[in-house]
Amino acid sequence: MTIHPSPADTKPAGTTAPPAAGITPAEALGWMHTAKFLTTAPQLHFLPPLTVPEIAFVGRSNAGKSTCINTLTQQKQLAFASKKPGRTQHINLFSLGKQGVTDAVLADLPGYGYAAVPKQDKIRWQQVMANYLVTRENLQAIVLMCDPRHGLTELDEILLDVVRPRVEEGLKFLVVLTKADKLTRSEQTKALSIMKLQAGGGEVRLFSATKRQGIEEVATLLWQWAHPPAPKAVAPAQEQPAEPRPE
Ligand code: GDP
Repeated sequence: MTIHPSPADTKPAGTTAPPAAGITPAEALGWMHTAKFLTTAPQLHFLPPLTVPEIAFVGRSNAGKSTCINTLTQQKQLAFASKKPGRTQHINLFSLGKQGVTDAVLADLPGYGYAAVPKQDKIRWQQVMANYLVTRENLQAIVLMCDPRHGLTELDEILLDVVRPRVEEGLKFLVVLTKADKLTRSEQTKALSIMKLQAGGGEVRLFSATKRQGIEEVATLLWQWAHPPAPKAVAPAQEQPAEPRPE
């Protein structure tokens, strides 16, 4: 994929932070802005099998997931489509990619923990979610939204248990601490360090849609995860000259 230099690249050296892994924050945001609704499905087996990296957004209802997706993609309504009646329990996919070429997909998973949902629906949701998180082959990363004023809920912990084996095998994992503007500076620092301990080696970022905090950082990280460096080709083993036989 060719990346065109953004205005930030043309500034004199030393005036901007160096781009992380070949992309500037502005380019990462430009990439996020290409998000388009792709499809919606009530269960995993209705989703199209895809080969591009998929990044799943999960979190309890009201954690700020839709606002986070809309802010990252700079589109007011994108994730609120997932809140339309009939779609709240669906997995919604959004394609990403410049020049109309999809190079990654965002998956917006249904928010959980909403008290008014009937028990049967909650159980069904857990099965759909677990099935998706455990078996979706092109899943590259999980982004868990957490309101730091409430911390991880029981359902968040269950989700962490479900994904742990895949995270140990290399699946990327990010906890986004939403609504950071509701915390003082010292509460933010504390929430960040507590979550780093709980995130089992995953990344943690503070995020505020209203104060526009953490947006570029999260966009850049997601771009990096969706564009991992190609594995180095392993050189074919050279034939070793035969050792002289011991006399
Ligand atoms: P979802 O159910 O996880 O999709 O959550 P929403 O995105 O709908 O947000 C739930 C509530 O939190 C709404 O009232 C939002 O306006 C509010 N909210 C979301 N993000 C932020 C934020 O960064 N700061 C503040 N102060 N409120 C937020």
